[in-house]
Amino acid sequence: MTTKEHPSICFVCHECDALQQVSAIKPGNTVNCICCGSKLFRNPVNGIEKPLALIVAAAILFIVANIYPVMTINIAGIERATTLTGSAMIFIELGSPELAVTVWVPGVLLPGFIIFGLFYILLSIRFNMVLPYTRPLLVWASRLLPWAMMDVFLLGVLVALVKLVALASVLLGPGFYAFLALIFTYAAAIASLEPHTLWQALDKQSSNQREACCER
Ligand SMILES: [Zn+2]
Repeated sequence: MTTKEHPSICFVCHECDALQQVSAIKPGNTVNCICCGSKLFRNPVNGIEKPLALIVAAAILFIVANIYPVMTINIAGIERATTLTGSAMIFIELGSPELAVTVWVPGVLLPGFIIFGLFYILLSIRFNMVLPYTRPLLVWASRLLPWAMMDVFLLGVLVALVKLVALASVLLGPGFYAFLALIFTYAAAIASLEPHTLWQALDKQSSNQREACCER
């Protein structure tokens, strides 16, 4: 049923390009393409609250992982603690700034942008606050999502760790455990997100704002 509260929308199937009109569905249901049967979108239960809770947890873990040392290395009595960013900066000290950028951008910068960008968008939707730049932020967060590779960064840290253990004594810091927990929390937050739900909520927010302006 199509109502003012739950309008039908036109949707293009990503698999077969069929354009179809889709009515609003109840939370927990999925809409499939009428031509090829592939999934068009789903309407998850607690589609805003659950990702918001996970993104808040991810944001806290991201801050902890970036403030506290990932590891402390002790070579011949000389101790050196390094953070996530510090471990990428080591490549600059070794004369490979391009490697530092290649490691730091997908491992720290992009996940940070996506986590805090999504937090801003979800906060705006959940508490019905019309905040600026939510739409371009959602576009950029969706585009940059495949380039955020914290798991690859962690793999690099683990490889370095295995090599370092033979040469020096290595003590893992709170930053490492926070980063490990962050990878799982971030993956869960992204998996719980449905872009269609976010776009629909932003559209509803805009139309409510227009109606409020017209009534004045
Ligand atoms: Zn299709």
